[in-house]
Amino acid sequence: MQTIFDEQQLSNYLEDLLQKYGIIIRNDHFVYASGKHGDAYVNKDGIYLHPELINQMVTIMCFIGRNLNLKFSVVAGPALGGIPLAHNFAQQWLALFGESLKIVILEKDGEDQYVLKRGYDQIVKNQNVLLVEDILTTGKSVGLCVDTLRQHQANVVQIVNIWQRGAEIEARGVSITPLMKKVLPMYEAADCPLCKKGIPINTKLGKGAFFLKNKSL
Ligand SMILES: [Zn+2]
Repeated sequence: MQTIFDEQQLSNYLEDLLQKYGIIIRNDHFVYASGKHGDAYVNKDGIYLHPELINQMVTIMCFIGRNLNLKFSVVAGPALGGIPLAHNFAQQWLALFGESLKIVILEKDGEDQYVLKRGYDQIVKNQNVLLVEDILTTGKSVGLCVDTLRQHQANVVQIVNIWQRGAEIEARGVSITPLMKKVLPMYEAADCPLCKKGIPINTKLGKGAFFLKNKSL
């Protein structure tokens, strides 16, 4: 990746920012939906409570997109998080660089598919499309979005996202540029070092309450 930013500095800056806004909560003991345990919790929806936070992150996304010298006429975002991101991106892109982009939203249809409704399929046809997303963990969702865009003859030029949580993300060969790369350690319940230390499980966030209830049965 070639950007105007130092990758590690940018990643550290974003991590501090997300902690400051309470999006990342550290130094506790959580149980995730997968059943695994860890010391950090990510309140992804919290991002969208703070317009100034979105603005700041999207400004960086725009400069990264510009610096990669990408040519695209459409910005696409998967619902829900991708909606404010795509809109903010197109507004800032116009303000910064004087280029007007069209915005399309990919909507989830069941577990394994995204769809382009509302005539968006016609908007992306034969166009270069930039895909924006918030957090990528496995890359499954964004891969499905690429599939859908390609089914409608769109050329996905790049994915720009806020945070890459997974160590390796594959999105059908499309290049991914995250603002932040950080893998949060997770443990199987049986091997959890936090359980071994006797650190109480957080029952307010995540699946901690459910885990403890099942354990006591
Ligand atoms: Zn544990």
